[in-house]
Amino acid sequence: MKIGVLKESYPGERRVALVPVNVAQLEKAGFEVWIEEGAGDAAGYSDEDYTNAAARVAPRETLPDFQLLLQVRSLGANPEYGEADLEMLSPGGYVIGTCDPLGNPAAIEQLARRGLNQFSLELIPRITRAQSMDVLSSMATIAGYRAVLLAASELPRIFPLLMTASGTLAAARVFVIGAGVAGLQAIATARRLGAIVQAYDLRPAVREQVESLGAKFVELELEAGESEDKGGYAKQMGEEFYRLQRELMADVVAESDVVITTAAIPGRPAPLLVTADAVGRMGQGGVIVDLAAERGGNCELSEADQRVVSQGVVILGPTNLPAEIPYHASQMFSTNVTRFLLHIATDGVIQLDREDEIISETLVAHGGEIPQARIRELLNLGPPAGTPGGQDDTNSPGDPPAPAEDGGQTPPAEESTEDPAGQVDPNYELGAGLNLVYDSGDKETEDGPQPGGGGEEEDSELSWRESSEESAGDEDPDDPPQQEDEVERDSKE
Ligand code: NAD
Repeated sequence: MKIGVLKESYPGERRVALVPVNVAQLEKAGFEVWIEEGAGDAAGYSDEDYTNAAARVAPRETLPDFQLLLQVRSLGANPEYGEADLEMLSPGGYVIGTCDPLGNPAAIEQLARRGLNQFSLELIPRITRAQSMDVLSSMATIAGYRAVLLAASELPRIFPLLMTASGTLAAARVFVIGAGVAGLQAIATARRLGAIVQAYDLRPAVREQVESLGAKFVELELEAGESEDKGGYAKQMGEEFYRLQRELMADVVAESDVVITTAAIPGRPAPLLVTADAVGRMGQGGVIVDLAAERGGNCELSEADQRVVSQGVVILGPTNLPAEIPYHASQMFSTNVTRFLLHIATDGVIQLDREDEIISETLVAHGGEIPQARIRELLNLGPPAGTPGGQDDTNSPGDPPAPAEDGGQTPPAEESTEDPAGQVDPNYELGAGLNLVYDSGDKETEDGPQPGGGGEEEDSELSWRESSEESAGDEDPDDPPQQEDEVERDSKE
């Protein structure tokens, strides 16, 4: 089977779907790997690296037709430019990549109509045997790390506490909202830089993980009740809950130098957790990095891929942070996609075992059909042909959609995140690598005292308080006047 890897065409995308080290594995497994000239350049992988790994590298015009295309962003996640890449596939070919099937189901329909087959890597089930294929966790890890670096370079203060001959510099105070994969990595990174870190998540199970990284879990007088679904994701809460949460968190936001928001509900818009009022209370020089900006944002003032400045606070809403660390993001993505491909193929040919959860959960277009009920619902299609209630040939993807009863807002089925036994996977290593950061970083640093490190909760509280007091007293009367709201194009663009 011929596999093609093209230069990613989404604006600003610097990742590549396959890195040289994985080419050899795929060749050994019976695939023939073709790489478009320059496909890995932006990520730091040269044509020579690919050639040395036994890939065939050629300019786009001379590439053959492929039976399989590996992409970071396929059509659904690259609606403007993704179509041209599909021309490189033979009829009935496969695409493996991220494709935003719940956000852009129309692209899945478009692909199905062309008779192509798509695997969506966002839908890899979170079960132990699929852990090495979990693209979402890989990219969230990179995004959480990068978010802290962005904040650190915007902040007019340093992160660590420094006691110098020129006086003591207070540590930065970082508040992380949402402690899933990205949030935990943000906590670990901010701690490693020496900041005093607090975090909140409405899933109580997260407290221990937050504390093990040397951060303080913020107590809110909020009754979250059943806030976690069977897959370990947060549930959508009522508007009254969010109102109260915003109110209770506003004080913590106000006393923070940096706020990193990562709160998300799968298949839903991001909850609004930081209001414009709360931003105003942060004061001059504060920084907010809103990792939920693509889904509407956790902060009222964030705008996707914009740098907003409001009352002296900088609010960033980056939507593609993994592309800013393309070498390692590509390495992780490539490992995930290779493991996935080796799982679904034998002797270089894809074998569709539809009983396999990994295949059934990720196959979103096949043989002109859209097999998954949740995507069909979003498209207002009936059950697939040949299934109970299915109308054999009257509900093909090309049919005009019936009126939506719920405005197409039906959330994805919760069971998609369960393992076959219907249990949250206890062996899943959430935030793998975080312990390493904690053990080898914070505890052994020589940068002076590390407030909150090593599970010393009392120290952590004390340092936070002291630091707040110091900062309350160190307001500079020469601070520039408060600025009017302004929106600038992100300098990256
Ligand atoms: P995500 O990106 O969907 O959400 C990020 C975080 O936001 C979550 O921790 C969520 O609880 C939090 N959040 C949502 N609403 C919030 C609110 N109002 N206030 C504060 N926080 C809020 O999630 P993710 O990072 O991809 O993963 C979340 C969880 O999924 C993990 O912590 C884990 O339990 C589970 N998970 C399970 C597996 C597995 O079992 N195989 C793999 C990866 C993740």
